[in-house]
Amino acid sequence: MSILDTNKEFAYVIAQVAEVAGYIWQKGWGERNGGNITVRVTEFATPQWASMPALSEPIAIGTTLPMLKGHYFYAKGTQKRMRDLARDPMGNGAIIRITDDAAHYEIIADNPVMPTSELPSHLMVQNYLLESGSCYKATLHTHPIELVAMSHLPRFKASQSMTRTLWSMIPETLAFAPLGIGWVPYEVPGSMELAQATLKQIQHYDVTMWEKHGVFAVGQDIMDAFDQVDVLNKAAIIFMSARAMGGEPEGLSDQAMKDVQEIFHLPKSRPC
Ligand SMILES: [Zn+2]
Repeated sequence: MSILDTNKEFAYVIAQVAEVAGYIWQKGWGERNGGNITVRVTEFATPQWASMPALSEPIAIGTTLPMLKGHYFYAKGTQKRMRDLARDPMGNGAIIRITDDAAHYEIIADNPVMPTSELPSHLMVQNYLLESGSCYKATLHTHPIELVAMSHLPRFKASQSMTRTLWSMIPETLAFAPLGIGWVPYEVPGSMELAQATLKQIQHYDVTMWEKHGVFAVGQDIMDAFDQVDVLNKAAIIFMSARAMGGEPEGLSDQAMKDVQEIFHLPKSRPC
């Protein structure tokens, strides 16, 4: 029996994770085992979950995250491919439970699939989301080609310049990624420095660029996180396409962008 059989709504959330993993592969953002997904699923826990035996020894998170005590997460497995996760989410990821000391986790289902090496940064952000009372539950790391390419260009090495260019490509970028994009200068993958810098940016942005690497995004669910990255990357593709046609794209004027912000009452902070 799979843990997916214990709760229909929970099975739907995991099916959504699989759907997004498939999109990431199709878009070329998830080469080999690239990218990570973590989703908080505590609200779906049945009494049965509490009595499920751990399939692993408690594993140290590397830091203490008090808000996470007793919470459950779906986490993509280390060395697992997005394209495999798309057809078998519980064979390429696992449900973990944070132990009472809030410094360890144990795998409870379906198989002892070790979570991603990036789990500490995902859990640090999850801890922040709970602490700030946010309704956001999903974190995503992926390698969107055109956004990563943009992060190599010196003139875009700041949140403001990258956000302005992306917003100015089509009005919908502004409407569907209203907080813009954060900026984290290059850090070693999996490092505490990268996690700390990401945490700072995620307090202001739903999507943040990791220079010359990828993006880290948060969302109310995994589809929401994916959509925001998709919207921003689409703008980067339009920018690139215009350049490929031989010129510098004009972009919407500051006034045109201000009008969109006002007419559509776009939020300047997370809605929840
Ligand atoms: Zn990566």
